[in-house]
Amino acid sequence: MIFLKALLVIFLFSNMCIADDFISLTDFYYSKNLNNPEKYYKNYSTDNIIDYFNLASIYKEFGKNEKAGEIYKKILEINPKEARAHFELAKVYYFLKKYEEAEKEINFFLNTNIINWEVYFWWGCILLKEKKYNDVLEKFNTALKLDTRKVVIYIKIAQLYEQRENFEEAVNYYKKAIAADKTYTELNKKIARLYEKMKDYINSYKYWVIVNNIDPKDIEANEKINYYVANIAELKAKLDEYNKELKQKREIFIPPDKKTIASGEIPIIKIGLLKEVDSISFKCGGDFEIRDEKGKFVLKGEKLKEYNIDFDSNRVFLSFNNEKLYFKDRIFIMRQNKDSTTTIYNIHHGEGFYWSEKKDTTYRGDFMIYAVNKKINLINLINIEEYLYGVVPSEIPTQWHKEALKAQAVAARTYTLRHLDQHRKEGFDLCATQHCAVYKGIYGENKKTNEAVDETAGEVLVDKNGEFIDTFYSHCCGGHTQDVSDVWGFKRIQSLKGVFDGERNKWEFPLSPFYFEEWVRSLPDAYCRATGDNEISFRWIRYFDAESLEMYINKKETIGKIKDIEPVKRAKYGALTEIRVIGEKGIRNFKFDPIRNILGKIRSNVIKWEYSKDEKGFIDEIFIYGAGWGHGVGMCQRGVKGMAEKGKNYKEILFHYYLYFYLLALF
Ligand SMILES: [Zn+2]
Ligand SMILES: [Zn+2]
Repeated sequence: MIFLKALLVIFLFSNMCIADDFISLTDFYYSKNLNNPEKYYKNYSTDNIIDYFNLASIYKEFGKNEKAGEIYKKILEINPKEARAHFELAKVYYFLKKYEEAEKEINFFLNTNIINWEVYFWWGCILLKEKKYNDVLEKFNTALKLDTRKVVIYIKIAQLYEQRENFEEAVNYYKKAIAADKTYTELNKKIARLYEKMKDYINSYKYWVIVNNIDPKDIEANEKINYYVANIAELKAKLDEYNKELKQKREIFIPPDKKTIASGEIPIIKIGLLKEVDSISFKCGGDFEIRDEKGKFVLKGEKLKEYNIDFDSNRVFLSFNNEKLYFKDRIFIMRQNKDSTTTIYNIHHGEGFYWSEKKDTTYRGDFMIYAVNKKINLINLINIEEYLYGVVPSEIPTQWHKEALKAQAVAARTYTLRHLDQHRKEGFDLCATQHCAVYKGIYGENKKTNEAVDETAGEVLVDKNGEFIDTFYSHCCGGHTQDVSDVWGFKRIQSLKGVFDGERNKWEFPLSPFYFEEWVRSLPDAYCRATGDNEISFRWIRYFDAESLEMYINKKETIGKIKDIEPVKRAKYGALTEIRVIGEKGIRNFKFDPIRNILGKIRSNVIKWEYSKDEKGFIDEIFIYGAGWGHGVGMCQRGVKGMAEKGKNYKEILFHYYLYFYLLALF
């Protein structure tokens, strides 16, 4: 982001004075009713450039591009060489579909030495709209050379190829976008459709299955899959072959023995693996006993045989060797050899997420199976340390520094013990999904994370009353963690205040609208600033066209096409805590953490957007600039990585993110 810095310097030196009402604009920005920028504007007269940038920044956020444009022009009246204002004005003209004016503003940069991917990117976008196809690719390629991380460039190149009916290249670029940023799940649908246009039904089917895995309710995907399976002979043959292979693979697979941690003191917890499914199939690596709801022995189970649980006239039964065992309430599968493991077929991991997949999955521990609402629940009974073996690797990349893995193990152990009542009403403690913690059994386990669990055995964080503290954590805070009371509306929790995630903080929070825009678009010096891999979690841009935006929002609320998205309230460390979405069929407000899900599962709520509208007043393109990945409360995992690499140990790391606690070994 050298370019942004360069621009910032230009105007900072051009006008250093700060108007008296600067603070009140910031207050206004973080107030509860950020719905009327005009109200502020009416009482407003200043020649301060930063104040104008602040105001224009708010207008952009409300989709009032015309107004934002007026403000940028005012800035250029004060200082015609203000590069940042030229750049912003070019974008605003683009959003207003005044492409010639937009090009003029971009041309300002031709005679300057300010070169950056963004200038070329927007230049390409403008030319694409003008259908000056021959120049578009050159601009986008230059943008890519200057910064290859920007996934939004791949999408624009894909759009270019799609417009020119080069579907193969369009598919290639959509795939590049997904490879670089897997949260772009809606692109799978675009790829599926393009393959269909190319009459490549096998690949089209493959992508419809991906769409279906991520969202089993997607109507278009379900229709396509059913149609293809019924009508494409080649596909039918392939699927038969695949199912035959899967069956053979299952027959020869032996769930491996895993050395169990033998200790009577370690609590056994109940993890919901399957909730309200129609049937369950499993195979144990060792012999087992089936016991009834009172724990009474019913039947001996044989190792390496497939057992099924189904329904028959409203009763649940277990079937094996063509025999059926009906059961009243629940049964327990108890291993005889405590080191043996059990494989459950076709477990759906990560529904709704980009990493969604269905996979046979092997678990340690015993099991409980019971009927609920004419469906079946499957619960894993496992000691907490072995549960953590299966959880920690899903929470943190296993190749990270040992001290980072240990901090994660302590946080996860404390979190687990603190949140054991999450699913009490449903008859278990925690589920195996993102809702509680992703748990993939031994299929997820890793030697290094198992060691981190062992080396911190039993260690937890408690407050002065001996209660487990809330050790929330998320992947990347973006440079500042959030106050739990701000972003979830909880009452204040002493241990979970927002902290600057670095050594020296040069930013004054709450940031004014323009500086907040800078914050989400630059790379401030923080522990969680990427150290090479996957920079996309620290700072990112998420792009949606009209169809994708409408699809995501309407999954939650049917309000049709989207006219406006407005910020309503922002927390002091930048996370949006309330938004208003104005659709053709209604207006809805959304609060707190669900905001990022509603806006297409974007990575965080620390965001700022710009959008354009079509001639009917509906949003046709939106660019969301974001910082971080996750809710931002508590420990920042990428920050943990950064701290560990700077030589901090796991205790120092925990003390940086959580406040007022004691570290204690329970067993
Ligand atoms: Zn849960
Ligand atoms: Zn961080």
